[in-house]
Amino acid sequence: MMNNPAIRFDKVSRHFGDIKAVDQVDLEIGDGEFFSMLGPSGSGKTTCLRLTAGFDRPTNGKIFLYGQDVSDLPPYERSVNTVFQDYALFPHMTIEDNIGYGLMIKGVSKTERAKQVEKMLDLVRLPGFGYRKPSQLSGGQRQRVALARALINHPKVLLLDEPLGALDLKLRQQMQVELKNIQREVGITFIFVTHDQEEALTMSDRIAVFNEGKIEQIGSPSDIYEKPATAFVAGFVGTSNLISGEVAKRITGTEKTFSIRPEKIHLSFENEKPSARMDSLEGVVRDVTYLGLYTRYVVTIEGGTDLVVVEQNLKTISVDLPSTKGRKVKISWYPEHISQLGG
Ligand code: ATP
Repeated sequence: MMNNPAIRFDKVSRHFGDIKAVDQVDLEIGDGEFFSMLGPSGSGKTTCLRLTAGFDRPTNGKIFLYGQDVSDLPPYERSVNTVFQDYALFPHMTIEDNIGYGLMIKGVSKTERAKQVEKMLDLVRLPGFGYRKPSQLSGGQRQRVALARALINHPKVLLLDEPLGALDLKLRQQMQVELKNIQREVGITFIFVTHDQEEALTMSDRIAVFNEGKIEQIGSPSDIYEKPATAFVAGFVGTSNLISGEVAKRITGTEKTFSIRPEKIHLSFENEKPSARMDSLEGVVRDVTYLGLYTRYVVTIEGGTDLVVVEQNLKTISVDLPSTKGRKVKISWYPEHISQLGG
């Protein structure tokens, strides 16, 4: 167990009739962590976030915020703020008034408000934008305003529900970096909901992978990617090859499924020999795709399973590739790069 976690879920369930939106979830999120909830649509991430915010109550179990049982507290009595995907800015108000809104409600004086709003505008890199209206900003800028409006209340925990979902890819990647920087700067706990695995891998200290109301695995981005615990995680986060049955038994001594990432597999043609320390199998190249930075191969191995292999184009150029289709190859990897799956 963690020492004084920011958030603790103790066997939390939220059922809607027969639908188990969240089912017996145990979870601890550390103070100052950038924690992502990752999973496909309908897996229970948003419900967990709503339960944390207090917009919804668990059917069973308890939720603790810095040790205090908040399961029955309304949202405004929890030191938590939420940033929604649609930003929910007031269109008729200036950016300054949007950001200062929470303080105005609390009765903070105009001068003090102006001072704090300016600080927030600096934090989200929008100095000088205070007099504009939301419609005069780009999507990414509006996103930052929504962030500033939440952070000005100095919540202990900030909840973000797919906040970058509405932005195009390039802007989203920029905002991922910005968001992570802002989180470091303010040092509070961020809980970030996303169905985008790359986004979760880029920004998080730790990730919880959700599937059908349960958490399949919690770990650092590299744990989740390099050592997926279940077939679901291996398949949802990145591309993975699953090997089981007879072929698995020959390699690991058990028929249990293991996974191996495409970039960890080395291809060798007739005259090359893989290192003796590597596990290896024979196969035939069924498909080759040149992708600039790397080449993607589909190799059919003994037993008929297709594996995806990617190799960086260190030597290869596209003109060499057509001749590789149909060729016999050896595929090999270092034993420490496979992950035995449970579940
Ligand atoms: P998305 O990425 O699409 O937002 P999610 O992982 O956040 O998905 P949730 O919104 O938490 O998923 O929903 C989990 C499950 O609970 C879904 O099957 C959903 O249909 C169901 N659900 C959520 N809210 C309700 C409700 N108020 N009444 C009935 N079912 C609900």
